[in-house]
Amino acid sequence: MSHATGVKYLKDGVLPHMWCPGCGAGTVLGAMLRAFEELDFKNEETVVVTGIGCWGKADDYLVTNALHTTHGRALAFATGIKAFNPRLNVVVLMGDGDSVTIGGNHFIHAARRNIDLTAIVVNNMNYGMTGGQVSGTTPAGKITSTTVYGNPEREFDICALADAAGANYVARGTACHGWELQNSIKEALTKKGFSLVEAISPCPTHFGRNNNLKPALEMIRWLKEKAVPVEQYDPLAHPKEEGYFPFGRLVDRNAPDFNTRYEEIRARAARS
Ligand code: SF4
Repeated sequence: MSHATGVKYLKDGVLPHMWCPGCGAGTVLGAMLRAFEELDFKNEETVVVTGIGCWGKADDYLVTNALHTTHGRALAFATGIKAFNPRLNVVVLMGDGDSVTIGGNHFIHAARRNIDLTAIVVNNMNYGMTGGQVSGTTPAGKITSTTVYGNPEREFDICALADAAGANYVARGTACHGWELQNSIKEALTKKGFSLVEAISPCPTHFGRNNNLKPALEMIRWLKEKAVPVEQYDPLAHPKEEGYFPFGRLVDRNAPDFNTRYEEIRARAARS
């Protein structure tokens, strides 16, 4: 069991944070910072790139290098940073809006390039900061402020998308399984190539209130009940139909990352 607290990566005097009571963002941040500490990440070698939204505010609290970018474009900025200086640890924090809704195209191509970034996506299934609007991961039929009679669209599976687009590492965790989430983030941070950790996270203020999960505790209970370790998920008869979803390591492969391929091409060009 780790004794890392991650506190050394927080600015002095920044707490309490801005997230609502019962929100999962703080738990995900804690898991990430403990993973940083266990891997002995240095502030000067680490860049945290954030997009817009509740989770995108995380960089406000950090003493590492940080870049707060435009909505949906965090991966584009992060790609530039990593391409220019491959020695940096570049970690990209996005919500479901930033990553696969507004930013969906950047997400697909970052995974396709297999650029050596770690994306930590807090999926709260709606646009929390701007009032709980429908996003690309809002489950079909669920209520949001812009789908008051139910979402007519199907939701994206972020992990399946990253897998299909070519990411080297994909894991799912939840904000209610902190230790497992910390381990997944650690694995992702040490993996060469594009790595994704999706953290399913309660938004009691909007998603929970709109979907009969009103006290913050109800969303935590729901996650505890429906999230199943991947080893136990596969043998279940009809898990998806019964609302279960797997968490843990889903993809782990070793395709060459973008910078490695790029250097090979540069060497070829220099010889010609
Ligand atoms: Fe968290 Fe939702 Fe509040 Fe945003 S609006 S801080 S996602 S609970």
